This record gives sequence, C-alpha cells and structure tokens, in this order.
Amino acid sequence: MNAHAFDTQGMQYCPFMPVFGPPQVMFERGSGTELWDADGKRYLDFLCGLAVTSLGHSHPVVAEAISRQANQLLHVSNLFANPAALKAAVQVNALLKETTGHEGQVFFCNSGAEANEAALKLARKFGGRGRHAVVSAYGSFHGRTLATLAATGQPAKHEAFQPMPDGFRYAVFNDIASLEGAIDPTVGAVLLEPVQGEGGVVPADAQYLRDVRALCDERGLLLIMDEVQTGYGRTGEWFGFQHAGVVPDVVTMAKAMGNGFPVGACWAKREIAAVFKPGDHGSTYSGTAIATAVVSAVIDEMRRIDAPRLARERGAELTAKLAAVPGVDSVRGTGLLLAVELAAGIDAKAVYAALLERGIVTNAVTATALRLAPPLTVTTEQIDEAVAALTAVLQETPQ
Ligand SMILES: *Cc1c(COP(=O)(O)O)cnc(C)c1O
Repeated sequence: MNAHAFDTQGMQYCPFMPVFGPPQVMFERGSGTELWDADGKRYLDFLCGLAVTSLGHSHPVVAEAISRQANQLLHVSNLFANPAALKAAVQVNALLKETTGHEGQVFFCNSGAEANEAALKLARKFGGRGRHAVVSAYGSFHGRTLATLAATGQPAKHEAFQPMPDGFRYAVFNDIASLEGAIDPTVGAVLLEPVQGEGGVVPADAQYLRDVRALCDERGLLLIMDEVQTGYGRTGEWFGFQHAGVVPDVVTMAKAMGNGFPVGACWAKREIAAVFKPGDHGSTYSGTAIATAVVSAVIDEMRRIDAPRLARERGAELTAKLAAVPGVDSVRGTGLLLAVELAAGIDAKAVYAALLERGIVTNAVTATALRLAPPLTVTTEQIDEAVAALTAVLQETPQ
C-alpha cells in the first residue's frame, strides 16, 4: 500500500517524485508523543520525524511562537534586520558559548544539509586554495546536496551521481590511525558526527574524539561537528561533543532546533567566522523572522524543562527496559538517540512493521536494528507502552 497513491481513471498516480519509498501511513494530527492517522488510529511516536520533534507534536509554546510571528512579520530579506533573528542568534551563540567556552557567530539556514554546506564553504575559505579538502567518516551522513552527499561517507550513495565534487576524503570511524592516514597537505578540515545517526546510531568513542581534536590542533585543521541529529539535548547534553569534552571549531545543527519548523544553522568560533565576507554565502531565508522566532521558543522551552537532563534520565530508563526484552541483543546510543540491536535472525524491517501495526512508530535503521528517538518529554507510561509492544512483537516474530 502507498498512502500517497490514488486511483485516477484506473491508473495508480502518486504526485511526488519517487525519491522516498511509498509511505504506509498518513498522519493527520499529533499531540506530545501521540500521533493519529487518517483513520483515527492512535500511535506513539518513538521516532520524532527522525529526531526532529523533540518537544513533541503541537507544542503550545512552538505553536504560539509561529502564530504570533505570523501575525507580526514573516520575512524581510537580509538587506534588513529583524528582531526575531537577532534574538535567536544571541541565544544560539549563548548556548555554544556555554558548551564550548568560545565566542562565535551563527549563520541561519533551512536544513541540515544547508548547515553543512555553509560549514564546508567556510572550511574552504579558511583553508585557502590548495587546502580545500575535508575528511569525513565512512558510514557518516551529512545531507543530500552534492557537496554534503560527497561528504557522506557512503560510496554506494555516490554512484548514480558521479562525478562527485572534488575535495572529499574518508576515514574509518572511531579509528584515529585511519584518520591520520587520510590527511594530506590538501586537507583543511575534519567533519564528524558525535553519534552516527543514519549510519546506525554509532557513538564516537570519547577518546577517539579527543585524539581527533589533538590531531586537528597539531595539523592546524578545523574540527567541524555535525550536530544536526544529536544537537539540542537529544543525547543527554545540549550537544554530542560535550560527552567527550572536546571543543569543535564549527558546529552544524538543524532538526530539533525548529521542532518541525524547517531551520538550521552553522556556528563557528569568531575568528573562523571572520573569514567570510559579505557575498561569500547567503540564503533568501537566512534568519527569516518566522523560523528564528521558533528557534527562540524552542531554546527557551528546552532550557525551562532542562531537556538534556530529561534525555539523560528517560534515556537511561528506556535503555534499561529495552535491554531486558527477550529478543533484544543489545541497546546502543546516548540519551534518547538509541538503537536496539535485535537477536540474531530477527529482521528489523519486520519488527518495525509489526510495531507500526501496534501503533508504535520506530525506524529500521539497519537490517538488524531499530532506531528509537522519542520526544525528550516522553513519560514513563509511554516508555512502558512501547516496551510492552516490542516485547509482544518479538514474542510473535519468527527467529
Ligand atoms: C538529517 C541529517 C542531515 C541532513 O539534514 P537535512 O535537514 O535532511 O538536510 C545532516 N547531518 C546529519 C547528521 C543528519 O542526521
């Protein structure tokens, strides 16, 4: 079944380009951790639109910020200032100052890929001609634009679009010797996720990230952390790099930053951001009032409820309960960005489908693992409901 296809004169017609697999469910409404489909069936959202709606659906603070700003001013371009952008930029910089100890500057954009594009251009300008290359990790995911696809260390995803943009090298994740081997005189930056999200929820070892930082310092390379999936409390800290105690030079973010409103950002230490001059980069919607009003509301609310602490506490609870389920081999991840590795022979796609049938939304992140990323506001009752559903599904699933 394809929830997007409909019959027209006897022909199945889907109005969307076929870049996404056919969706199985049409969601119409959400509130907190709950979703309802077009037939009125209730679900628990343990995926959050891929770690986006971290405060839950229809959050009153987010809805109010959107409606207030929509009634005041949506957009004015970057030829002029607007108070929403200024307020959000100060708040984002404050968050990064608290977590890195550095003054910095922010560039707002509309998505994670665009945040990484900005970081890649900044790295090229910083490195200068001949020192333009960026090393990223195998298994990484950095976006779908040509440059961020090139930075994505999954050669199979490149094949249909060769030739890829020049200047990208890859190293084995969590292997400092491999990274060292990938660095040549053309390399100016290293780009890493603190937890590889799309790559299967694989956390970077703390010692590896510390070694990467030391290597970058020794060779004069920028360390760019892609916090698009991990940022804004998801891992139990504001940003994933905090777990290792390393300080990146550039941080990219998106997803939870808008709780479903499309927005992203690239932050850099002040002296690095300073290499950009007017005209070097931009976007019509950079700092647009409606998006940045949402960013402020999300940061205020996340601070008010101490979202990182919630992710830590609920993450520990969910991890312990999942690990005790028969048929679960192991649970990995940090905070509320988790993968459940199923016992040998269990197909994650089949478990995903059976959970969806029972009203639990997850994602088969690999052939053998489910990804769980519930809202940071998830309750113990909701955790118990999801764990009970998984227990029942694994009892029924052939091994
Ligand atoms: C989702 C994701 C991206 C891409 O973000 P889009 O908003 O889809 O462009 C980049 N990096 C990481 C780590 C992601 O998880």
